[in-house]
Amino acid sequence: MRRTVYSEDHEAFRETIRDFIAAEVVPVYDEWREAGAAPRDFYKKLGELGVFGIEVPEEYGGAGESSFKFQAVITEECARAGVSFGGSSVHTALCLPYLLKYATEEQKRRWLPSFVSGDMMTAIAMTEPGTGSDLAGMKTTARLSEDGTHYVLNGAKTFITGGVQADRVLVCARTAPPTPEDRRAGISILVVDTASEGYAVGRKLEKLGLKTSDTAELSFTDVKVPVEDLLGEEGKAFGYLGQNLPQERLGIAVAAYAQAAAAIRFAQEYVRDRTVFGASVASFQNTKFVLADCKSEVDAMEAVVDRALDAHDAGELTAADAASAKLFTTERAAVVIDKCLQLHGGYGYMMEYPIARLYADTRVSRIYGGTSEVMRSIVAKSMGL
Ligand SMILES: Cc1cc2nc3c(=O)[nH]c(=O)nc-3n(C[C@H](O)[C@H](O)[C@H](O)COP(=O)(O)OP(=O)(O)OC[C@H]3O[C@@H](n4cnc5c(N)ncnc54)[C@H](O)[C@@H]3O)c2cc1C
Repeated sequence: MRRTVYSEDHEAFRETIRDFIAAEVVPVYDEWREAGAAPRDFYKKLGELGVFGIEVPEEYGGAGESSFKFQAVITEECARAGVSFGGSSVHTALCLPYLLKYATEEQKRRWLPSFVSGDMMTAIAMTEPGTGSDLAGMKTTARLSEDGTHYVLNGAKTFITGGVQADRVLVCARTAPPTPEDRRAGISILVVDTASEGYAVGRKLEKLGLKTSDTAELSFTDVKVPVEDLLGEEGKAFGYLGQNLPQERLGIAVAAYAQAAAAIRFAQEYVRDRTVFGASVASFQNTKFVLADCKSEVDAMEAVVDRALDAHDAGELTAADAASAKLFTTERAAVVIDKCLQLHGGYGYMMEYPIARLYADTRVSRIYGGTSEVMRSIVAKSMGL
């Protein structure tokens, strides 16, 4: 079916991104995988290309677009080529909405130009060693100093994408204890300068997949954070997270759909070339049926993703819509990618084949941004259950 979700502008942007990936990413991608991260100067290239400023207003150096679909195009093109832009999707798809919605005019002038150029990379730190799904249980504290000039930040975070390379991290911390009526109250976001005294990057964690994005532990020991770096209002962060997580989940849904579509292409190419018992693997009826099943699954994912993208651009994507889209696409993508890997035989298990990397990369999509179980809870709640 012809897709109608993208405009001519989105498609022109797709061509630019496709060419950029072919020239700047594919030739060096194996080196990034071995190094465990995309190099820092690559982010400057993304900045020069305008990727970080698409949704940033023109007065701060961006293009002033309101459509999230440009980010979706990047996600689709990376999946198509079997690569990623390192951890930079966190910078744009996760951190930027918070800065655009809650930063003051002074903060926007201070942060956004270097955000757009890639000179200031950002990450977001919600998860702690003791709590992930249940964010209200976070223990990191930010106590206001007696003279009211700064917060004193103490605690630890884990699994932070881009945590090694970030210059500023949006740290969620308790500025007040939970109240008996509301355990979500008292959480705030501080945009912490990673060069601050007492701020430390711990282990860079060894992951199953996503080898080109760094994922780190962070710790804070009496870190002084100026009050000018509080984002939005004190104590309101849980509400902010609730408003922004749907976009994060939509981004993960788009990635899952695009990775499943890529898996089919990789399998199609492979089964045409591979000969077994004197015939191409593509000639077996099983192969055709498996790939036909996969195609119909991906068609269904595409329909879900496209509706969700339209709803999001129209400002109508609810938390339950996003959770449902993420749940469906990530669970079905896992099945599709597994079937496509099977068609590769033993080569499908070798990391030099893109299907093996996809298999490993996609596993986390059912965990991060909220697990499938949490997505089910959100959908069930929206059904009055
Ligand atoms: C590669 C990677 C990158 C990440 N990047 C970031 C990042 O940049 N920033 C950040 O803040 N976090 C990040 N995370 C953290 C991620 O969001 C959490 O791992 C995720 O939310 C799950 O939390 P948890 O790991 O603490 O699991 P837990 O919450 O301990 O869950 C354990 C199990 O319990 C289940 N469970 C939990 N609650 C319920 C329930 N109510 N009902 C039924 N089952 C339940 C879960 O589904 C899961 O199966 C990242 C994680 C990974 C793996």
